[in-house]
Amino acid sequence: MNNKIKACESVGIRSFNFRFPYEAETAMILAKITELNVDPDVHGILVQLPLPSHIDSSKVIRAISVDKDVDGFHLYNVGGLVVGDTIFSPCTPYGVVKLLESENIPIAGQNVVVVGASNIVGKPMALMLMQREATVSVCHAKTRDLAQHTIMADVLIVAAGHPMLIVPQMVKRGAVVIDVGINRLPNGQLTGDVDFHGLLEKVSFITPVPGGVGPMTVTMLLVNTIVSAEKTREPAFC
Ligand code: NAP
Repeated sequence: MNNKIKACESVGIRSFNFRFPYEAETAMILAKITELNVDPDVHGILVQLPLPSHIDSSKVIRAISVDKDVDGFHLYNVGGLVVGDTIFSPCTPYGVVKLLESENIPIAGQNVVVVGASNIVGKPMALMLMQREATVSVCHAKTRDLAQHTIMADVLIVAAGHPMLIVPQMVKRGAVVIDVGINRLPNGQLTGDVDFHGLLEKVSFITPVPGGVGPMTVTMLLVNTIVSAEKTREPAFC
């Protein structure tokens, strides 16, 4: 959350952080969201997940106005990914797409393997890449013989939350590897899901952790917020 607040400051977006006590009930959070939904000075609302288990997270996310859902987690925006018609795309997969596009890495026709099938990363990632005409495979914890899938990838996107899940013998030479994972090791160090140093010589592109997908996620949050503000801006002349 601190990174997001600092990033907002750096581009001139005012941000407000509403912290609730652990015991807060779903209704308290819904009341705050309702207030922000109708505040014309607020263009983006995000709820920092995960919420404590006694809070109904789906209800909270659904309460956010679709027009202010800059995280892209509302059912409308999630469902819109299926037909390629979202108001806001979810920030992490959106950031990955932007990374690929900025390096002119082809997507159409490529074999893309997404490791991880969560609602906030893996599934929307797969849908966004299908929309761009990639051939997408999605792997998850019950996938048998993960390496059999990952070795086929022209572009491998890993978001499982397991350090060193992907090692060099699982990756095709010249592949593009995007490491979404963020894991804290017992020594406090942050690491991704991929053997970054082991893969460096073998692949054509690879993202580091920290410093790869994480900052892109924050950037896309800012982009979505600015787009939201611009949508509500009145024309100077009528
Ligand atoms: P999540 O909700 O825990 O989902 C993890 C996914 O990985 C699940 O689909 C799970 O399969 C799958 N998985 C777990 N172990 C696996 C294995 N051994 N082989 C293949 N698949 C496996 O996590 P998430 O929210 O998607 O986040 C994933 C990682 O990305 C975490 O490290 C998180 O911190 C990081 N993350 C980073 C950013 C960023 O901005 N860089 C943003 C969001 C998340 P099942 O569905 O079968 O359980």
